[in-house]
This record gives sequence, C-alpha cells and structure tokens, in this order.
Amino acid sequence: MDEDSFRAWAHRAADWSVDYLAGVAERPVRAQVGPGEVFRQIPAAPPAAGEPMEAIFADLDRLILPGMTHWQHPRFFAYFPANASPPSVVAEFVTAALAAQCMLWQTSPAATELESRVTDWLRDMIGLGPDFAGVIQDSASGATLAALLTARERALAFAGNREGLAGQRPVRVYASAQVHSSIDKAVRIAGIGDANLVRIPVTGPLFGMDPAALDAAIRADQAAGLLPAAVVACLGGTSIGACDPLEAVAAVAARHGVYLHVDAAWAGSAMICPEFRDLMRGAEQADSLVFNPHKWLFTHFDCSAHFVKDPRALTDTLGLRPPFLRTLEREGVVDYNEWSIPLGRRFRALKLWFVIRSYGVEGLRDMIRRHVAWARALAERVAAHPDFELVTGPILSLFTFRYAPAGAGDLDALNERLVARINDDGRTYLTQTRHDGRFVIRFQIGQTTTTWRDVEIAWEAVQEVAASLAPTRAG
Ligand code: PLP
Repeated sequence: MDEDSFRAWAHRAADWSVDYLAGVAERPVRAQVGPGEVFRQIPAAPPAAGEPMEAIFADLDRLILPGMTHWQHPRFFAYFPANASPPSVVAEFVTAALAAQCMLWQTSPAATELESRVTDWLRDMIGLGPDFAGVIQDSASGATLAALLTARERALAFAGNREGLAGQRPVRVYASAQVHSSIDKAVRIAGIGDANLVRIPVTGPLFGMDPAALDAAIRADQAAGLLPAAVVACLGGTSIGACDPLEAVAAVAARHGVYLHVDAAWAGSAMICPEFRDLMRGAEQADSLVFNPHKWLFTHFDCSAHFVKDPRALTDTLGLRPPFLRTLEREGVVDYNEWSIPLGRRFRALKLWFVIRSYGVEGLRDMIRRHVAWARALAERVAAHPDFELVTGPILSLFTFRYAPAGAGDLDALNERLVARINDDGRTYLTQTRHDGRFVIRFQIGQTTTTWRDVEIAWEAVQEVAASLAPTRAG
C-alpha cells in the first residue's frame, strides 16, 4: 500500500469507526450468529494475489460485523465493561502506527518514561500512596501470575527459580471462593498446584474473607510444615463484586510475613472517587495491587495497572538479562520487560495519557459516579418488583437478581431461559453467575456512552421477556 492509499484508507477507517460507534446502539448487543456461521463464509485458503481494500472493507461489513458482540454498545451490561472511549480509540490508532516494542528503556524511552509517569498518576488517583511503583501489564491475569511468582520466590528465598519446586516445602496461597479464576490459573502456572490454594470462608454483606479463619488456616499450615506464601484478596470480585476486609486481612498477612496481593481488576477504577475508598481501606498495606483501566476507566484493552511495593522482588523473580538485551545505560533506567512475563510490550501508556488528559480526573469520576448511582436506582426498582428478587448488591455498579414469580417451579431453569431469551432479544446483554448455589443474573453498569434511558430500556426488556416466558409451575 503506497502512502496515498494508506492516507485514504486511514481516513476511511476513521470514518468507519465513528459511524460504527454512532450507530452501534441500533444493533443487537450480543452477536446473533450461530457457531460456525462466520467460519463457513471465510474462504478455506488465503488469496494468492492481493485484493483491493474496497473488497476487504465490504467484507468487514458483510461478514464480520454481524458476528460481533458489541462491547461498546450503550446497553452492554454483561460481564464487566471493556471500555474504549474516543480518546482511547485515537491513541490506539497512533500506537498502531508507532508500533513500537517497549521492552527496554532504549527501545522507546518515551514509552517507558510515560508509563512510569501515568502509573504514578493512576496510583495517586486511586489514593494508593507513594510507596508503590507501577507497571502496565497485558492483563490482570498476567499481573496476578507475576505477583504469585514473586510471592512464591520470596517465601522460598528464590530457591524455586534456582532449583525448581521439587523438594521444596509446599507453598500455600489463601483466597476466598469469590476471587476470579485468574488466581486459580496463576496458582497452576506457578507450579503451586490446586491443592495448595486454600479457600477462606466469607462473611458479611460484602462477602469478604473472614480474617480469623485466614489466621487459623495460616497457623495450621505452619504447624503442618507447609509454607504460607501469599494471600490474594479481592476488591470487587467478578461474580457479585465481593470485597475482602483489606485492613484486617493485611494485618493477618503481615503478622505471618505472607505476601498480600489485591485483585481490584474491576473495582479499582472506582477508587478514583474518594467516597468509594472505604472499600480499599488497608490496600496500602498490600505488597501489590492490580486494577484494569481496560475495564472501567474508559481505556482500551489491554491495560492493567499493576502496583508493587518492592519492584526488586518482582524483577529478581522475572528479570533475565541475556547479552542481547543489555544496553549501556542500564543503570538508572527502567527496563519494564523485567517486570512482566512477556518480553515484548505494547506502548500501552499512550492511551491512558490521552484518556486521563482528555477527560481530566473529575470527568472520569463523574462517569463512574453516574454508573454507581444508576445501578443503585435500578436495584431499587428490581427489589420493589413483586416478580423479581434482588439477590446481591449493589456493590458499586454491580448487582444480581433473578426472576421469581409466585408459584414458579425451578427458578434456576427459569432464569437460565430468561437470560438466554434476553440476549436473543438484542436490546441488552446480560450474563449470569451462581451465588449461594442459585443461578442469578448479573447487571453491571460501566459503559462509556450508557445513559439512564439505556438502563431503563434494558430493564423494560428484562420485564417484557420475563413476562413472555411460560413459567415452570411448582408441582
Ligand atoms: N480479576 C477480576 C476481579 C476480574 O473480573 C477479571 C476479569 O473479568 C480478571 C481478574 C481477569 O482480567 P484480565 O482479563 O485482565 O486477565
């Protein structure tokens, strides 16, 4: 592609993007295609000769768009948001053009130094305190894996890295059942093993882990000759938004010299609003914390802010310095690849810089505050409806509910049908979880362009679809 065509197609892509986002609310939120439908329409072999961009763009509209679930739809209330505000879209375009590998300071000094600066901004924005240093990881899963590897090596005095895990005392990790499955996955990848992930029971309205039970579990393990290495606490668990009592959990971890990692992947963004920070009291005692601006801070995936108190422990765990990566100015610069699992790194700081500067902290706060207020208002309506039951929350902007009309039989089956039918309807997109053994429907609000009217439309859709279901009568 020559420069003139590139310019023309870049303009076309920009127009396409603006038009797509302007019209996305007219589309069904969840893709309405069946399995294999897109695959069958893509030729089995690649074209031998180059094709005109016009044809490629036409197929984008014809083949790809119908098979997309629209995460930027204002009535996307499923999972957690994956926000991409307009300044973030623009920054991603520029990032794509720069296409830099930001693994070493030298491979893009501006990328490294901007990353240091914007992670400081984020840290201060959530009130975490200056004794944390930040790095942008690809995902919360990656950050948590890095944290658990660090915790494992700290507990083993780095013998795991040197000698392997065979013959070492079993390393133990503690978390409630409310943590995301990325913790389970990290435990596996770190060679700690499912059997060494100790589940601590939860209590209270926020479904937080019981610090006394945590203390007892650690003591029992110590007595049995096992090696307590890490506690993973959640600040806004995926299922229902559970929050562990960080202050009390941190005190237990500190008492036993155990590493504390906080997974605030979703809720961390809301901590830019001082009024929600009660939930994170004690986070400053943690060894590390991760949150995802790519969820609720209007910034594209991938962008996970990972804060650590002792960067040296992290780089001693993950940093390898082969001759081909050595640069003369090593002293006094940060080579972020040593903080991460992959070597290669995208220039992720740019989009954060664009977003934070474009909205300002107050602008970002306003959007999050609205989401929380709307979730509370909708939860009240759900609770007041005679045929619906508010099951949990709202915790920040997430609550769960279910359809429970009088005389209905199997409520799990009824709600499973309901969520499938709501998503077939297309006006909104909701997903489910299990809570206390019950099938419940999650509702979270966090999309950049959502309005209160979108929330109302979604609730109208839920009620209409529910009323259209033939209830499974008891008996
Ligand atoms: N932790 C929590 C609480 C989450 O909700 C999620 C994803 O939804 C993750 C971790 C994993 O995030 P990522 O996709 O960035 O690995």
